[in-house]
Amino acid sequence: MPDRYAVIGNPVAHSKSPLIHAEFARRTGQSIEYERLLAPLDGFSETVARFRAEGGRGANVTLPFKQEAFALSDRLSARARRAAAVNTLRFDADGIFGDNTDGAGLVADLERNLGFALEGRRVLLVGAGGAAHGVIPALLDAGVGELIVANRTLPRAEELARAFAPRVAASGFAALAGRRFDLVINATSATLANAAPDLPSGLYAPGSLAYEMMYGQGETPFLASARRDGAGRTVDGLGMLVEQAAESFLLWRGVRPDTAPVIRMLRGA
Ligand code: NAP
Repeated sequence: MPDRYAVIGNPVAHSKSPLIHAEFARRTGQSIEYERLLAPLDGFSETVARFRAEGGRGANVTLPFKQEAFALSDRLSARARRAAAVNTLRFDADGIFGDNTDGAGLVADLERNLGFALEGRRVLLVGAGGAAHGVIPALLDAGVGELIVANRTLPRAEELARAFAPRVAASGFAALAGRRFDLVINATSATLANAAPDLPSGLYAPGSLAYEMMYGQGETPFLASARRDGAGRTVDGLGMLVEQAAESFLLWRGVRPDTAPVIRMLRGA
């Protein structure tokens, strides 16, 4: 019997994780089964408990349950504790181990796949929700020179900055006018509404990168405005998705799959 894993979310129908993990398993010779589990909005912990009782070995957790997964975990990795969110659960004999691989996924995509070294860079992180919070520890560990969190609702950015003081500063959108960044990351969900965060123009330094955390949407309003505004490169979050999946696979199976062919396959599809 193959070991069972799942991605749990709401909605979850469009998740590419089953495809990615099936490909990882094929390429590493691991025998796993990986499915989608739609959890009711008020039924995350019951869904986890049922899957575990049925023999599940671990799960990825996506919107909107990453904070609940954090609370449900009996033990946490250091990076999950700092991110205050969990996207990977491993069901051990002595309880649930919670990890967060989103930040490592983003940094791996930037540095390894895109050749963008983070050390010393001026970084603007747009958004102050779960996704932004989750990647801050990894960006700091990668040695960024400056990290500003800007959010439409300023108090949420200020709260995040306080949690990572003094290495992170908060800003509203308009106050960014006149600033220049090497990397601008869109960690808002504005793209879901086919909109871009209302950023001032002139943010992009020469050779800069605009990174959209969402993926599979083609050129999003954020990426289009970044290109018009002089970003050197514009990239979506498909590589981050595959890299965070590879980190989860490593946690579960003890082997880190080669991600490049899987990213190529998904881009081709
Ligand atoms: P969230 O907790 O709901 O936070 C949403 C954020 O978006 C808030 O900061 C919100 O600002 C902002 N926002 C929403 N609409 C906006 C608009 N029209 N203009 C400006 N700001 C707007 O969501 P999340 O969990 O952080 O997820 C954010 C995105 O990251 C999602 O699209 C998700 O798919 C993506 N993501 C991708 C990966 C990957 O592997 N590639 C991993 C994780 C997440 P306010 O505070 O003002 O409301």
